[in-house]
Amino acid sequence: MNKLLLVGAFLVFQLSNAQTVLQPEHVFDGSELHTNWVVLVEHNSITYAGPLSGLKVPKNTKTLRLDGTTLMPGIIEGHSHLLLHPYNETSWNDQVLKESPVERAIRGTVHAQKSLQAGITTMRDLGAEGAGYTDVYLKKTIDNGIIPGPRLLVAGPAIVATGAYGPKGFHDAVTVPLGAEPASGEAPLIETVRRQMGNGVDLIKVYADYRWTPGADSQPTFLQQELDAMVATASSAGKYVVAHASTPEGMKRAIAAGVETIEHGDGGTLEIFKLMKEKGIGYCPTLAAGDAITRYGGWKKGIDSDPERIKNKKKSFQLALDSGVNVVFGGDVGVFPHGENYREMELMVAYGMQPLEVLKSATAGNAKTFHLNQLGKLEKGYLADIIAVKGNPLKDISAMKEVPFVMKDGVIYKRP
Ligand SMILES: [Zn+2]
Repeated sequence: MNKLLLVGAFLVFQLSNAQTVLQPEHVFDGSELHTNWVVLVEHNSITYAGPLSGLKVPKNTKTLRLDGTTLMPGIIEGHSHLLLHPYNETSWNDQVLKESPVERAIRGTVHAQKSLQAGITTMRDLGAEGAGYTDVYLKKTIDNGIIPGPRLLVAGPAIVATGAYGPKGFHDAVTVPLGAEPASGEAPLIETVRRQMGNGVDLIKVYADYRWTPGADSQPTFLQQELDAMVATASSAGKYVVAHASTPEGMKRAIAAGVETIEHGDGGTLEIFKLMKEKGIGYCPTLAAGDAITRYGGWKKGIDSDPERIKNKKKSFQLALDSGVNVVFGGDVGVFPHGENYREMELMVAYGMQPLEVLKSATAGNAKTFHLNQLGKLEKGYLADIIAVKGNPLKDISAMKEVPFVMKDGVIYKRP
C-alpha cells in the first residue's frame, strides 16, 4: 500500500518501501528521447533508467503506467519571484508599498504549490522584491514539509546601487520601502553580501544597471570595483553572484566581475554573448516577462504587429543562439502567473530555439549551471524529481502545459 501523507493541507502519495517502476510512452532523460524505456524509483532515488527489456524487476515492485505521456526530470525554473504576482492584477509598486510581507508570504505559499503542480521541482528565486528574507523562510517551510513546493535557491533582497531602484515617483523627502537593498562603495557592499549570506541566501543577486528615474532608459549602476568586490566576497564563501543587466555596458561590467549568469540581457550584442560563452557565463533571457509586460501595456498579441521591444528581444535572442552561449531557462515568473512557466519554453521555441535544446536547458542544463549535481537527469543515482507531460514536447512544446504526474524527492504530489 502506498502511504498517504499530509503536507500542510495537501494530500501526497508516499511510495511505500516497495520500489516503483514508472512506465510512460517516452522518456526524456535530460539529453535525449527514448521509447520503451522505464524508470525505477526506490525511496527518493532513481535506481534504473533504461529499456524495459534491460530491467530485472525486483520483488515487491509496483508499476505505475503513464500511458500517452513523456516522463522527464522535474523542471528547473531559472528565474522566479515567488513573492510577486502578475502586474496586471496589482502593479509592482503597489505590491511593494501596500502588501505586507505577511500577505506576500501567504501568497507565496500558494505560488509555491502551483509551481510544483505545474512540474517545477526546483526554482531559482531571484529576489524577494521588498519582502526581506521571506523567500528564505518559504524555503525552510518547504524543506521541513510544512507546505508543498519546489526545492528553492533563494537570493533574499537583491543588492542595488543607492538611488537606483524603486518604487519611484515620490519627492525627495518621502521615504518608501524599497524592492531591494541599496548600498554603495566597496566596504558597505562587502558587508551587505556577508550579512545576506549570514541570513541564509543561496546566492547574491545584483543590479548592474537600472533606470535612475521613472521611465528613463537603463544606465549602469555599480562601478566595476564595486561589482568585483561583491563577486569576490561571495565566491570566497562558496556562493555566487547573478546580475540583472540589460545594457551592453552593464553586461560587460558583470562579465568582467565574474558573475555566473546574466538576467534579461536585452541589449546584448553578438560580441557580448560570445564573451559570455568564452567565460562560461549563462544567459537567462526572460522572454516571457517582456512578452507579458508588453501585453499589459496594451499590445494585442496576434492582432497588432510586434512592438519595438519584442522585435529587439527576438533579435538579441537570435544573437545569443548564434553565439553558442549557455541559455538558461527562466521566465521571470511572478510577472506572469505562477504555474505558467511553460510560457517561456513556448517563446524560446517561437524565437528560434530547438525544442530539444529548450528541454535540455530546463533540466540537465540548469542543474549543471546551478551546481545541482543530483538533479536534472533520469539516470541511476539521481534524485527522484520526475514529471510526466501529456504527449511529446519535442514535437509540440505546448505539451509542457499539461503535467499529470509530479514526483519530488520520491514523493508523488500529482498523479493521473
Ligand atoms: Zn526578476
